[in-house]
Amino acid sequence: MNYFASSKRYQDMTYRRCGKSGLLLPALSLGLWHNFGQIDSLDNARNILRLAFDNGITHFDLANNYGPPAGSAEETFGTIFKSDFKNYRDELIISTKAGWKMWDGPYGDWGSKKYLVASLDQSLQRMGLDYVDIYYHHRPDPNTPLEETMSALDLIVRQGKALYVGISSYSPSETSHAADLLKQLGTPCVIHQPKYSMFDRWIEGGLLDVLEQKGIGCIPFSPLAQGLLSNKYLNGIPKNSRAASHRGNGALEEDQISEEKIQKVKRLNEIAMKRGQNLAQMALAWILKDQRITSVLLGVSRPEQLTDSLKSLANISFTKDELESINTILK
Ligand code: NDP
Repeated sequence: MNYFASSKRYQDMTYRRCGKSGLLLPALSLGLWHNFGQIDSLDNARNILRLAFDNGITHFDLANNYGPPAGSAEETFGTIFKSDFKNYRDELIISTKAGWKMWDGPYGDWGSKKYLVASLDQSLQRMGLDYVDIYYHHRPDPNTPLEETMSALDLIVRQGKALYVGISSYSPSETSHAADLLKQLGTPCVIHQPKYSMFDRWIEGGLLDVLEQKGIGCIPFSPLAQGLLSNKYLNGIPKNSRAASHRGNGALEEDQISEEKIQKVKRLNEIAMKRGQNLAQMALAWILKDQRITSVLLGVSRPEQLTDSLKSLANISFTKDELESINTILK
């Protein structure tokens, strides 16, 4: 082992119950979608993972296609897990997913049992793990019966390859149906992973209600709208930013940063400063103010961003006036 975790790692983090399950997750979790691929620095990835765990971030979120190239984030994680985290396996919640295109042919995409089972076997091999803690279906598949996709998740749990299962980006009605099917099978849906930030509030239109009613946890992704909800783009597009890197696979691009968005970011930034936070911290706190949110998935390109985002936990309550001002800006 190259790394000994801080003895103070559980001192400051808060843990929230994931829906009505027995699983507790840290209020902030770490996602490895970008910054952990083959094109990224292994040392930087290691430093971020160590810092996260040293601060009580016990949950690392992956997917088969994270990188680039696809699969390489799981390989990076596997390398670091083996050298640094093996002895801490029982203190970690590691998730992965399948649902987006991973390999050629009819069995490497969407939601068939064939794809979900094969993909998890590949993910376990890349990460050097016997099981994952959470396995997700990554997006709804309009052409595969939901019964088949959910029975694949149930099978995987029964095989001991995952402890819990979840879904990502399912609509409220799809979520409700999936949860009912999983319940019948005896493998509850414990978590939903939707996109959610001040710039994308779709989950407020029904999904959060379904999750609460069904006792399912919620772990939003892209809480900073991929970095837009910070002060980094206020004066143009910095060289080392995600938008300047053209990473593909859905990563933020320059043409998504409109003048209208920047004007909103500037006004939000003023509210954040009055609260004694920076905008990234306020954007994370704004999500965590809702107790139906279990955890927020951070994506960070360097350790300093993680240190910065952790400070959001110091103040996650908002006055009525603050919320109204934010709503006015976001309208
Ligand atoms: P964010 O919206 O938090 O964006 C992350 C980016 O924001 C960083 O790479 C960095 O940009 C910038 N940033 C982070 N912290 C700070 C800070 N404190 N100050 C200033 N800038 C900051 O999240 P992601 O879009 O990365 O998504 C997070 C995770 O969610 C993923 O890793 C993945 O696990 C999950 N996810 C799931 C999806 C799904 O379909 N289920 C889809 C997408 C993500 P820069 O790189 O420019 O420095």
